[in-house]
Amino acid sequence: MTATATGFLELTGVSKRYNDTVVLKDLDISIGQGEFISLIGPSGSGKTTTLRIIAGLEMPTAGSIAVDGRDITALLPNERGFGMVFQHFALFPHLDVYQNVAYGLKVRGDSKPEIEREVLPMLDRIGLRPLANRKISELSGGQRQRVGIARALIVRPKLLLLDEPTGSLDTKLKLAMQTELKALHEESGLTFIHVTHNQSEALALANRVYVMNDGRIEQQGSPSQVYRYPATRFVADFVGRNNLIDGEIDGAVFRSPLGSFPVGGAGRALPRGACTAVIRADSVQVGPAPEGAAAIQAPLDALEYAGSMVTWFFGGGVMTDVSTDESAGLEPKIGKTYTVWWDPNNVHYLSADGTSSQGG
Ligand code: ADP
Repeated sequence: MTATATGFLELTGVSKRYNDTVVLKDLDISIGQGEFISLIGPSGSGKTTTLRIIAGLEMPTAGSIAVDGRDITALLPNERGFGMVFQHFALFPHLDVYQNVAYGLKVRGDSKPEIEREVLPMLDRIGLRPLANRKISELSGGQRQRVGIARALIVRPKLLLLDEPTGSLDTKLKLAMQTELKALHEESGLTFIHVTHNQSEALALANRVYVMNDGRIEQQGSPSQVYRYPATRFVADFVGRNNLIDGEIDGAVFRSPLGSFPVGGAGRALPRGACTAVIRADSVQVGPAPEGAAAIQAPLDALEYAGSMVTWFFGGGVMTDVSTDESAGLEPKIGKTYTVWWDPNNVHYLSADGTSSQGG
């Protein structure tokens, strides 16, 4: 099923206040049928509150929520027809796997054979048919999470709301669950909204992300738009790993405390005056700079090893991500001065007033 851009679920001017604390500020969110949306942002930015308001577990202080043009702001959670996979919505511990998955169909009044016709293929689908009669307490974290998702999906909800669905899993299970969620979304054609603080998960799963900060939407767009063309300094800092260099554009030159560099990207619209250059850490190179590159000489201050990557931190505040093999080949020495360079065409500029120009 192809996702349509907008119009299925609309949040208009949604605000939320707890006593004197404003936690959501005038949110507008518009989601199309069949989309996979991720709400991302740091802890406390309002992601869960937004999801709970969509679910009907919290009332907005102002604003409205509509599905297919119908105002549902005043409806109770169970009147909305949404599925939920929330960490605190525990599975029923006294029921087995089959009974947990069958629950929604039973409540709806389906007959035993009807329930079996739906539940058995679903258990096959999530690989838990051999465990149909297991108690929930005898399942691993990943298996429980699968049961939770199956229980929500079995009634084909209009919308599936997922709060940190992989939050409690270790890295390997997390990746397996991400693949599973993506496949279930594609097969079901349903609309998924997912909350995570893990931005790589959001970028891997969602067709569109909303980046939240302090109760506001900082930016929405496809993962690659948000990753390549962050609209604000906050997004550039939060999504991906970026070098942010303050300076100003003067004609075809970007002047900064690190030096003056060609702006590149002939013909593109650039901000004027004060701005910030955003340069992805993985697009900065160490070694002889080619003609036309932006290059600096900088001492190596520190190295940070993370799995298959090493981050080199240079004096002046520039960092680059290098593969472990490449890094070993370069024989890094703390304190030694290196040529560090990047392609000016890969630089994205944010103007001081918060607007941005698309580079690269
Ligand atoms: P996130 O999911 O992005 O971590 P939340 O939506 O959970 O953020 O929280 C946003 C803000 O709202 C936080 O500052 C949090 O402390 C506050 N908050 C959430 N629920 C309540 C509540 N029931 N009472 C008061 N403040 C709350």
